[in-house]
Amino acid sequence: MEKKNLSSSSSTMILHNAVIVTMDSENRLFRNGAVFIDHDRIRAVGQSADILQQFSPLTDQILDLQGQILLPGFVNTHVHTSQQLARGIADDVDLLTWLHDRIWPYESNMTEEDSYISTLLCGIELIHSGVTCFAEAGGQYVTGMARAVELLGLRACLVESIMDSGEGLPASWAIRTTDDCIQSQKELYEKHHNTADGRIRVWFGIRQTMNSTEQLLLETRDVARELNTGINMHTAEISYENQFVMNTRNVDYGTVTYLEKLGFLRNNLLSAHTVWVNNSEIGFLSRAGVKVSHCPAAAMRMLGFAPIKEMLDAGICVSLGTDGAPSNNRMSIVDEMYLASLINKGREVFAKGTTDPTALPAETVLRMATVNGAKTVLWDDEIGSLEVGKKADMVVVDAFSWSMIPIHDCIANLVYCMRTENVVSVMCNGKWIMKDKKILNVDERAIISAAKHASHELLKRAGIKIPNRMNVL
Ligand SMILES: [Zn+2]
Repeated sequence: MEKKNLSSSSSTMILHNAVIVTMDSENRLFRNGAVFIDHDRIRAVGQSADILQQFSPLTDQILDLQGQILLPGFVNTHVHTSQQLARGIADDVDLLTWLHDRIWPYESNMTEEDSYISTLLCGIELIHSGVTCFAEAGGQYVTGMARAVELLGLRACLVESIMDSGEGLPASWAIRTTDDCIQSQKELYEKHHNTADGRIRVWFGIRQTMNSTEQLLLETRDVARELNTGINMHTAEISYENQFVMNTRNVDYGTVTYLEKLGFLRNNLLSAHTVWVNNSEIGFLSRAGVKVSHCPAAAMRMLGFAPIKEMLDAGICVSLGTDGAPSNNRMSIVDEMYLASLINKGREVFAKGTTDPTALPAETVLRMATVNGAKTVLWDDEIGSLEVGKKADMVVVDAFSWSMIPIHDCIANLVYCMRTENVVSVMCNGKWIMKDKKILNVDERAIISAAKHASHELLKRAGIKIPNRMNVL
């Protein structure tokens, strides 16, 4: 029955004998399921026996997954691919040191080639954790990122880092006008939107309120709507931000209240972090259909407890992100699923005086990493679940290991037991981009070497010195 070996050139393929977690609207899970893939799309999902019988005569390849778990590709809705070379440059430092002495000098000294190498390295880690699509949070060189994404075979919404004001910015950033910011993004949209077989989309960016004039916010809102694309913005990250907005923008609470007043809250807004929001602001976000990216590790390290359960209860689409390497170090969405569940159970202490083990159950967290992720990046018509007509973006998980056995409750094991190492193969747009833990489109070892070198040179150029913590001999 098995036809040929796996090759990435096949145009049709059956994957069968898998536990298929579809994440569709009926929450279907096939204990012995199969999918039939035709080019880049899923043409059938169902019981293995039925799919084999119906589609075997039509397919180039049949692959037996031997009981492994097949899931939709994960969507990482907040990642700074340009910051991957900055891993380890800002650990255990206060927020001002983090920003002014480490991250801004690092980012403002990057070249396009650095951005390309950084995105390749980050992409490798994303793929290993089962990510097929991500939302870039804003970097210096969209062209460098796009080259890397195209090569890796990933799907992405790319965004330029945009600031037109603010205290203490590096000289090369301080000269940017509002017009420059809008113009540059329009050009990037023209050049890269819908490229790489439709895998790359270009969004508009706002780094954060403290670095944006009101004019920039208003123009961004209008141009993004005209071009029918999304806006990615860091929102209500720290309490100081809300204080700043109250002092300078004539509102009585924080960033979300201010954005509501401006008419900026729309269903194409991806609001990252969104930690410091009150109940009425949760109402604004919900009514406007704003999507929230929750980054549990980064929140615990720098920002605080976001009211995720309250946002989900209010009907807000909340998804998961890793944030960048200097805020988290691990670019694994698998780790973020585990953290999201634990942190939000523990956070219930503030609301109820005791933890709540029923908060954010495994199925909710899995939804956040898949379908909610797809909605957050405005791509849920094509990705986020394994359904007929959707793109073939999927992940094969090998659960037969010490970390996941025994399996009495598959969904719980995926969230509470799975490690990045359990992800064995990843397909994006109908093509394998990792097979049996081997990244297929790039040379992983060569990129690791290039990244090590580029990071060293970049830190030297930026004058960033990391103090020794111990008596280094
Ligand atoms: Zn960020």
